[in-house]
Amino acid sequence: MQDKETGFTSKLVHAGSSPDDCGSVVTPIYQTSTFAFESARQGADRFAGKADGYIYTRIGNPTIKALEDCVSSLEGGAGAIATSSGMGAVTTAYMALLGSGDHIVSTASVYGPSRTLMEQHMSRFGVESTYVDTSNVANVERAIRGNTKMIYVETPSNPAMQITDLEAMAKLAHENDAVLVVDSTFASPYLQRPLELGADVVLHSVTKFINGHADVVGGILIARDEELAGRLRKMMVLTGCNMDPHQAYLVHRGLKTLSLRIERAQESAQRIARWLEERRDIDWVRYIGLKSHPQHELALRQMSGPGAMICFELKGGLEAGERLMNRVKVAALAVSLGGVETLIQHPASMTHSGMPREERLEAGISDGLVRFSVGIEDVDDLLEDLRQALDGSPAA
Ligand SMILES: *Cc1c(COP(=O)(O)O)cnc(C)c1O
Repeated sequence: MQDKETGFTSKLVHAGSSPDDCGSVVTPIYQTSTFAFESARQGADRFAGKADGYIYTRIGNPTIKALEDCVSSLEGGAGAIATSSGMGAVTTAYMALLGSGDHIVSTASVYGPSRTLMEQHMSRFGVESTYVDTSNVANVERAIRGNTKMIYVETPSNPAMQITDLEAMAKLAHENDAVLVVDSTFASPYLQRPLELGADVVLHSVTKFINGHADVVGGILIARDEELAGRLRKMMVLTGCNMDPHQAYLVHRGLKTLSLRIERAQESAQRIARWLEERRDIDWVRYIGLKSHPQHELALRQMSGPGAMICFELKGGLEAGERLMNRVKVAALAVSLGGVETLIQHPASMTHSGMPREERLEAGISDGLVRFSVGIEDVDDLLEDLRQALDGSPAA
C-alpha cells in the first residue's frame, strides 16, 4: 500500500507491516538474537553494507523495523530508530549529535531526566547547556552562542503544558547551523508532526501515547533525512539502547488505535477541563483546548487538537491535592501518561520532586499542581469520580 495516498489512520493500521511467507497479516515476533547467512559471501556483504538483510538484533530486526517504518511514515521522516526507552532515545540523540565544546539551548521545564543527563553527565564530556523558557522565542535567541549545535525543545511541556513555537525554533536553529530536536511525547504524531514544521529530529517516549496501554517502556527517534537517521542509528547500536522484538510487537499493536484513543480521550478531556474551570474550589486549570490557556492559538496552529493532558491547582494547595488523589476511585494514582487508563499524580512530590523548588516554580510547577492524564473510560464516570473526590460525599 502506498503510504502517501492514505490517511493517517490507514497508515497507523498498515504502514511498516510486511507479510511473511505464510501471509501473516501482522508482522510476527522475530524472537531471535541473530540471523543465519546463506553463505560467507552474503555475511561479508551484509557487514560491508553491500547487501540488505539482517545480522544481529541490536543492529536490526524485522519486528522492530515494522514499528520503525510505521512511525517514520506517520511523522513524515526519512527513517526511525526504536530504542529501549524514551531516555534511550534522548541519550542517543545527545551522544550522536553533540561533542566536547558544543552548546545546547533547551526548555527549562523539559522532562527532568533529560535535563539531569545533560547538566550532570554530558557536561563531564564538555557539552555546555542553557535552559530557558522556550515558549518565549526571544529567550532562545538570547541564549544562542557561536558554539550552539542543538536546540532541544519539549512541546507541549510536562506538566505545565507550555507551548514552544516550532517553526520559529527551526528557523533559529538553521540560521545558526544547529539542529532542532523535539520531544513530541505529549502530542504524539496524531496531533503534532514537528518535521513538517522544520524540525530535524523528533523523539517520543513510546511508553506514553504511542503504545498507550501502560504495559511497555520504549522510545523512538525519527529523522528528517537519511544522513541524520544513519548517525542516530549508529549511536543507538553502539550504546546498546536498542528495542527488543517483543517490546516492538506490543508497541506496534498498541499504536494501531492511536487516533481512536486520542479522539476519545481528547473529547473527554475537553469536557473535564471545562467542568473543572467552573468549580469554585479549583484555582486554575491549564488545558490547551481552553481559551484561558495563554498559548491556545499557537497550540492549535501547530497541533491538530488539544490532546488528553490537563493540569490544575486546587484552592487548598498541596493538602487539598493530596485529599483528591487519595479519594479518586476510577483514576489511578500513578505517574506516566497517555494510556487507556486515566492517571492522576502530583508533580511536586512525585515526578518533579528531584528539582529544586525555585527551578520547579520557574518551570510553572506550583506546589499544589495536579496532573491528570485522561484515558478512554466513560466521561461521566470520570466526572463523577472527580466530583465525589472533590466534594468528599456521595451524589445527592
Ligand atoms: C516519559 C517521558 C520521557 C522518558 O521516557 P521513558 O520511556 O520513561 O524513558 C521523555 N520525555 C517525556 C516528555 C516523557 O513524558
